[in-house]
Amino acid sequence: MTGKRLLDDCFLHDKDRLRHQDALDLLKDRVSTIAEVETIPLSEASERVLAQTVVAPRNVPLADNSAVDGYAFRHSDFEEAGGFFRMDQRVAAGHASLTDLAPWGAARIFTGAVMPPGADTVAMQEDCEPHQQDGQDFVIVPQGLKKGANCRLAGEDVAEGTPILEAGQRLRPQDVAAIASTGLGEISVYRKLKVGLLSTGDELRRPGSLITLGDVYDSNHFLLQGLCSTLPVDVEDLGILKDDAALVETTLKEAAGRFDVLLTSGGASRGEEDHLLAALDTLGSRHMWQLAIKPGRPMMFGSIGDCVFLGLPGNPVAAMVCFLLYVRPVLSVLGGGPFLRARGFQVPAAFEVPKKKPDRREFYRAYLEEGPDGAPVAQKFMRDGSGLITGLREADGLIEIPEDVTSIAKGDLVTYLPFSGFGLR
Ligand code: AMP
Ligand code: MG
Repeated sequence: MTGKRLLDDCFLHDKDRLRHQDALDLLKDRVSTIAEVETIPLSEASERVLAQTVVAPRNVPLADNSAVDGYAFRHSDFEEAGGFFRMDQRVAAGHASLTDLAPWGAARIFTGAVMPPGADTVAMQEDCEPHQQDGQDFVIVPQGLKKGANCRLAGEDVAEGTPILEAGQRLRPQDVAAIASTGLGEISVYRKLKVGLLSTGDELRRPGSLITLGDVYDSNHFLLQGLCSTLPVDVEDLGILKDDAALVETTLKEAAGRFDVLLTSGGASRGEEDHLLAALDTLGSRHMWQLAIKPGRPMMFGSIGDCVFLGLPGNPVAAMVCFLLYVRPVLSVLGGGPFLRARGFQVPAAFEVPKKKPDRREFYRAYLEEGPDGAPVAQKFMRDGSGLITGLREADGLIEIPEDVTSIAKGDLVTYLPFSGFGLR
């Protein structure tokens, strides 16, 4: 546990809360990879986190080959042959000629076929003219082709021995394609983290069930499940936990023994019905709780035995923002990847905020729109309230306002973090 035990969060001054950057530094400092390494077939590699350096065991392509359908010839023959070549051989993709190209000879060749020994240049079939003379086949090749034209050289994509991917990289389809092109059929990746997902609150009901006065449908479960699906984790639904201190404690204790990570939402403050904090403090240790951010504030990070505990606030907006800012990088690192940060860019504000509290960092739900001069400007979802899922739905990203800013005028440059930077749409 770091820092002082904090008092009732409602009365705590932002100056006494942990700042965003300090929270990130703390997480970066405390979290390391826990996932073991496993070997998997390449067919399962997409979106997994690589646990090895991939070094190309051979050249890609393996041999010089034709980039087009056409005629392969020896460039140095062109002058003497006057562009008039005798048909010498034929090579299709998947086949290789072992016979040297005859002097002034050309090979009919197809895309991907290995260049016959001696040939170094290919003319496209559209530019060539087949010709018959005295029962012999010839081809007239156009002038002006540079030596090596339309020929793909061995190793020009990847040379044998080149490291093409590093441990920690999350494999995109094109990365898997690159591995496949080198011929490797298996790779080492980090095992997917086992995440137990819990919603907490007496008021919560699952959609599809009946609801009565005072009940709230559990939207966070679906929000967090979806957000987790952008990371290499397996999520198990642990359902809804009632606001009952003893039940919370026994449930967390039991679940901590089965999962790498417990991810909860709700019950994270110190209200009378918030029991997660006490349970975490009893069962394990807490490293982080009160943050000087909006929305968010109570965001728990700690551990119960070997299990990492991440407790998000209950309000859906706060839950999503805290997931993107803190849970996402933590899950990534635990699973063998980097500490993920969304990269923002500066855009003029299309809104104003006459008064913003100092000492805390604020994240607005936002979207880009076309400004008066046609260039993009950032617009903020106008209604406050961290229970409004509408703002999340209408947003394409977040605007990040640092602690020291106390007002924003239209046209001021603000940092825009597109959702795409968080692996979302
Ligand atoms: P809490 O953090 O438990 O005090 O909850 C704060 C607010 O978020 C309350 O209005 C809760 O009803 C709401 N909330 C908590 N969990 C969820 C959830 N899983 N889905 C939707 N709303 C929730
Ligand atoms: Mg609650």
